[in-house]
Amino acid sequence: MKTIVVKFGGSSLASAGQFQKVADIIRAETARRYVVASAPGKRDSADTKVTDLLYRCYDLASAKQDFAPVLAQIESRFADIAEGLGLSFDVSGEIAVIRKHLEQNPQRDYMASRGEYLNSKLLAAFLGYDFLDPAQAVRFFPDGAFDSETTNETLAAALSNSERCVVAGFYGAFADGTIHTFSRGGSDVTGAIVARAVKADLYENWTDVSGMLSADPRIVENPRTIAQITYKELRELSYMGASVLHEDAVFPVQKANIPINIRNTNRPADPGTMIMPALPGKRATRKVTGVAGHTGFSSILIDKAMMNGEIGFGAKLLTILARHGVSFEHCPSGIDTMSIIVSTASLAPSRDAILAEIEAELQPDHLSVEDHLALIAVVGQGMIYSKGVAASIFGAIADANINIRMIDQGSSELNIIVAVQEADYENAIRSIYHAVENRL
Ligand code: ADP
Ligand code: ASP
Ligand code: MG
Repeated sequence: MKTIVVKFGGSSLASAGQFQKVADIIRAETARRYVVASAPGKRDSADTKVTDLLYRCYDLASAKQDFAPVLAQIESRFADIAEGLGLSFDVSGEIAVIRKHLEQNPQRDYMASRGEYLNSKLLAAFLGYDFLDPAQAVRFFPDGAFDSETTNETLAAALSNSERCVVAGFYGAFADGTIHTFSRGGSDVTGAIVARAVKADLYENWTDVSGMLSADPRIVENPRTIAQITYKELRELSYMGASVLHEDAVFPVQKANIPINIRNTNRPADPGTMIMPALPGKRATRKVTGVAGHTGFSSILIDKAMMNGEIGFGAKLLTILARHGVSFEHCPSGIDTMSIIVSTASLAPSRDAILAEIEAELQPDHLSVEDHLALIAVVGQGMIYSKGVAASIFGAIADANINIRMIDQGSSELNIIVAVQEADYENAIRSIYHAVENRL
């Protein structure tokens, strides 16, 4: 029998009305046997996600402040859903357990996980499916890294006993049972690991847009929907800020060659975006797949005469960053210059110490930091076969009077990355999008 894993995001499960749409989608196809659910998201743009309310509750409780009003808000979100669906579900009993936890020894990740836990239990009850608590199956190493192989075995064993099951997204546990979450948006990752564990034919990711768009809709008006995209292109775009799918959701399904289909819960007839290993026959027509980016980067610039002859110069520099737990995004270099692009937030805690160590250990002729940079990636599997793409990108940026601070043709040959000042970010995205539009 064919097996489809379906993951529903927060807005798809934000209210009883949305639950009804989700149930209709699941029942429309018998292969939709394994369901991964997020916590209730926003019902409208002014609303607050339940996960954010849970973090707020934790912050108040750990500061010994009154969390009761926020917990009451959370309770009413779940009570509204249960009532709206006519379910006899003991919401207040579940909330009492959370209240007790908050009064005793509040833990941040445990609190964050309760949105997915309760929403998934509600969905399982509504569908008549089994429920699996991922604390039993999704495993993390003591340092917080995801333990993919143990998880795959445990999850496969747990789900082999179940014909139809709802699995809560976003969290798992350490070996001692302590709850740990993925980063925000992590239910996408849970969906991917469930798909791998049950050897699904397809992983459907249901959200509030009809697929991956070729640019951020908040910046570019009416960007084209991407009908098909490769795993690699998707990873590049999502890493760079096209936030429709968590950037780590690609690995588990890529390993198992399972295609992902991004779909819209509110427009189930739309075909959405298919994500797969390769796009046969597409090369000739499509050069560029999409444009994405984000702000908040800094560049550390180092000049030193004869740098290229100094063995180990780059290694020393990267060791200094590593000592302070800062990872770098790009490292464009010249003969006597090197620059390292890092996220400003990750640099902030030990910025002065890092600069002092660079001065002391590398004795540069010049050292400075440029803040307020944005990175923009133009991604496309077909780009390497096309001569004109880079020229039109740089031409468009120049025509818009925008100064490029850095260029990096990714070593994957899948992308071209440019850095611009944050003030120019949106304008640069629009200029690039319009320059490559006819190659999408
Ligand atoms: P969910 O709660 O279903 O996981 P998310 O909010 O995580 O949904 O992701 C969907 C949102 O991603 C869309 O509503 C859209 O605003 C945003 N988004 C940003 N960039 C893109 C893009 N390139 N294509 C599609 N959506 C995008
Ligand atoms: N509820 C979590 C979040 O808001 C995880 C998710 O929705 O995927 O980040
Ligand atoms: Mg999401």
